[in-house]
Amino acid sequence: MFQRKEEILGSVLALIIVVTLLSSSLVSANLASEEAGVIKQAVSNTSVILMIGDGMSFEQVKLAKLVEYGLSDNLTMEKLPYYASVRTADYENKTTDSSASATAMATGFKTRDGYLGIDRKKVEVINIVEIAQQLGKSTGIAVTSPIYKSTPAGFLVHGDIEYDYDGIMDQIVETNVDVLFGGGSDYLTTERIDILLSYGYNITYTRDEFLTLNSEKLVGLFDGGQLPQEKLRNTSLVPSLAEMTTKALDLLSDDEDGFFLMVEGSQIDWGCHENDIVYAALEGIAFDYAVKVAYEYVQTHENTILIVTGDHETGDLKIVSSDLDDTLPMDLVTEEEIKNQRIARANDIEVTWGSERHTSKHVPLFIHGEAFNDIEKGILIQNTDIFNIMNQTFYGLPISITDISPPSTSETSSFKVLTMLIPLFIVPVFLVLKKRKY
Ligand SMILES: [Zn+2]
Repeated sequence: MFQRKEEILGSVLALIIVVTLLSSSLVSANLASEEAGVIKQAVSNTSVILMIGDGMSFEQVKLAKLVEYGLSDNLTMEKLPYYASVRTADYENKTTDSSASATAMATGFKTRDGYLGIDRKKVEVINIVEIAQQLGKSTGIAVTSPIYKSTPAGFLVHGDIEYDYDGIMDQIVETNVDVLFGGGSDYLTTERIDILLSYGYNITYTRDEFLTLNSEKLVGLFDGGQLPQEKLRNTSLVPSLAEMTTKALDLLSDDEDGFFLMVEGSQIDWGCHENDIVYAALEGIAFDYAVKVAYEYVQTHENTILIVTGDHETGDLKIVSSDLDDTLPMDLVTEEEIKNQRIARANDIEVTWGSERHTSKHVPLFIHGEAFNDIEKGILIQNTDIFNIMNQTFYGLPISITDISPPSTSETSSFKVLTMLIPLFIVPVFLVLKKRKY
């Protein structure tokens, strides 16, 4: 009897092990074939919209939110379902400049200040625009700075040439990027115009023409240098970042292979460098309205992932207090009234500025994309992981990003792993207890 019970238990255990092994191999075979399917489909048509608030961290987001919505609502970027934090340090400094940060996001390499599209040893590295192009996708850039400034340049050119605007423009006109919107027409020489025309681009300098032009390849430059800041922008002459985003999506979405679009709210950074609360708030709000355009777009285009982040913090901004509970009054009719109300509300918020420069504070990351449903929220990642996310999306690979949070958080996750292992101990314990009965 004793012997038989032992034997039965032994065979049951063996059976459990065999069944478990079989089913897990079946599951992995299944996953592998599903993954292969995903890869094929994803490479053919996924799109990525990356939106960068220059100098934008959590307090800059809060500032724009308070001015526009008080405590009654959130910015659109805050409504994206996935969120995390990003460490922005570059290869040599805890506090990055915009070139190194753009290069990290565009290429996946931490590099040195001033370096564009090259690694720390000055080796040229492929960027996400070039990868998209290799996969047959359309590409676009829309910014409120000149197109030759650090962030857009980090996605377009290669070299230790941050302030060599002629050198940058010489490379930009050869990038074959499909849409290019922003400022910087002072550097669009006759020679460079001829090059663009020979590649089939339309070039426009006015908002009216821009809004009606339907050209596969379009360069729209609306100022000699940077675009006028929101507070001073003539809304009938210079398109908003939201209008540029709408136009870019309109043109790029015609490509059935998908597209890559980078949009930058370039001047949040400059508002913060000047410790100018109105400048920073209005640029942040304008950026969020561009995010709104993109967020509405991705609701109806399931193969498109939307990523919103900052490249670093600027100004060491802290919001001290605000009594703005309600949203901006909705009964304001003219753009001028709305703008003046925003200015008044921004001036009502009490803040401190700890710096006139960039800081090493983490920046937020907001994402809309199905692949993020099962990824842990609130983790801390490197800015180079933003490149990984985009690259993995384009190649249809599972999203793999690394949580670099300090130990306290990882202790929690090892506890989770231990909890999951508990069932493995139950079978042997059960056997030992059974044995003792006889
Ligand atoms: Zn920057």
